[in-house]
Amino acid sequence: MSTTATLRPGAGATWRTWGRTETAEPVRVLAPTTEDEVVAAVREAADEGLRVKPVGAGHSFSAIAVAPDLQLDLAGLTGLRHADPTTGRVTVAAGTRLHDIPGLLAPHRLAMPNLGDIDAQSVSGAVSTGTHGTGLGFGGLATQVVGLRLVDGRGDVVVIDAEHRPDLLPAAALGLGALGVITEITLQCVPEFLLDAVEAPEPVDAVLAQWMERVRTRDHVEFYWFPHTGTALTKTNTRLPADRPRRPLPGWRRRLDDDLVANGLFGLTCGLATRVPAVAPLVNRVADRVTGHRSFRDLSPAVFTTRRAVRFREMEYAVPVAALPEVAREVMALIERRRWRISFPLEFRAAAADDRWLSTAYGRDSGYVAVHRYWRDRDDDYFPEVEALLQAHDGRPHWGKMHGRTAADLAPAYPRFGDFLAVRDDLDPDRVFANDYLERVLGG
Ligand SMILES: Cc1cc2nc3c(=O)[nH]c(=O)nc-3n(C[C@H](O)[C@H](O)[C@H](O)COP(=O)(O)OP(=O)(O)OC[C@H]3O[C@@H](n4cnc5c(N)ncnc54)[C@H](O)[C@@H]3O)c2cc1C
Repeated sequence: MSTTATLRPGAGATWRTWGRTETAEPVRVLAPTTEDEVVAAVREAADEGLRVKPVGAGHSFSAIAVAPDLQLDLAGLTGLRHADPTTGRVTVAAGTRLHDIPGLLAPHRLAMPNLGDIDAQSVSGAVSTGTHGTGLGFGGLATQVVGLRLVDGRGDVVVIDAEHRPDLLPAAALGLGALGVITEITLQCVPEFLLDAVEAPEPVDAVLAQWMERVRTRDHVEFYWFPHTGTALTKTNTRLPADRPRRPLPGWRRRLDDDLVANGLFGLTCGLATRVPAVAPLVNRVADRVTGHRSFRDLSPAVFTTRRAVRFREMEYAVPVAALPEVAREVMALIERRRWRISFPLEFRAAAADDRWLSTAYGRDSGYVAVHRYWRDRDDDYFPEVEALLQAHDGRPHWGKMHGRTAADLAPAYPRFGDFLAVRDDLDPDRVFANDYLERVLGG
């Protein structure tokens, strides 16, 4: 078998994140399709003193995936390796996109227990940055990882699971791409299930007042608040066995809601609000009227994820879940006080405490606050001022989204930060996987 990865004609070209927040011009771009090719690429790069960065779908907003020297494009390292319907354990190649996983699991009647808002990401990119969905009874995607294979900074393959180096799993399952190149991931899946979805506009004050009761008693709760309005668009999903009747959204309704209203109309109105910021409150009141009010029931991936065609930038923080209503009210008051014209809704979610050392939900049930900017909107004080407020509430930033934190102020926020750095020293002593972002958030 060849151990030489294909040289992809990407070197010299500019790589961009989906949100157009970061660019990279790697010296070399390789597209390995086997673990042996990854090993050879890492060893060769280490010998030449080149730094290596695997990339998934480029859907991080932060500079976490920026490749300084050698970019490993894992789009060809995909597919199902093994599925065991009895245990629910499924092994997929590292570059497999989340949107391909339901098709791979369908013959085995399995599903991932929870998902985020979209499914464009690679499974490795998603778990490495702490991607999460909503549901106080459910952890982020990295909590679904029960094993992985990783090529470390020396080019050695490290197997991490319940039998091999289990001590490394809480670090490697959410490793920020700092520990090595994951080649395979084993996920703990569950029998496939339906979600009964109810989406409705409600007064935001009432939603905040009932926050803890809602997240404790319902499976998956989230809401969007359109700035300059008193309305929250709530989404409440209830898990049901797969043998119950399905009531999927008719194709025309999904296209109308998601493509025309949520994406098409929204794209047009955001563009207008960028040129004439004073219309943002009006835009939001219109969006507030035309969105919401629908109920349907479908297999979980079709309900958890939607298509996002309107480009944006995003910052998201986790705070202790019970603090979310107070934090949300402070953020809302800040937006109105500072008179920013924000055309994009804020998103609020919840997740269970987990044991992944760098998880935003490490050791505590968490509420999530996400702020967005239309990608063409100019930078102002919105993100930095909201970030200062969230940090003051013991907030932890999403590693794949925009933030300004550094190792010095992140270390006290993560009880196992020092242990993670020790694993990094062990697996990547020469910092083959470093980039400027990792130097900022982890140190050199
Ligand atoms: C429209 C949109 C919606 C989103 N929705 C959500 C959401 O609902 N919830 C949420 O939590 N986040 C969300 N995100 C953030 C997104 O899930 C994360 O940023 C995720 O990391 C992107 O996955 P990716 O495959 O694009 O990874 P990339 O951005 O390409 O890479 C992310 C990191 O993973 C590393 N990596 C990739 N592959 C490997 C590998 N094989 N081995 C080791 N490291 C690797 C990279 O080096 C980099 O450090 C959203 C982003 C966008 C643009």
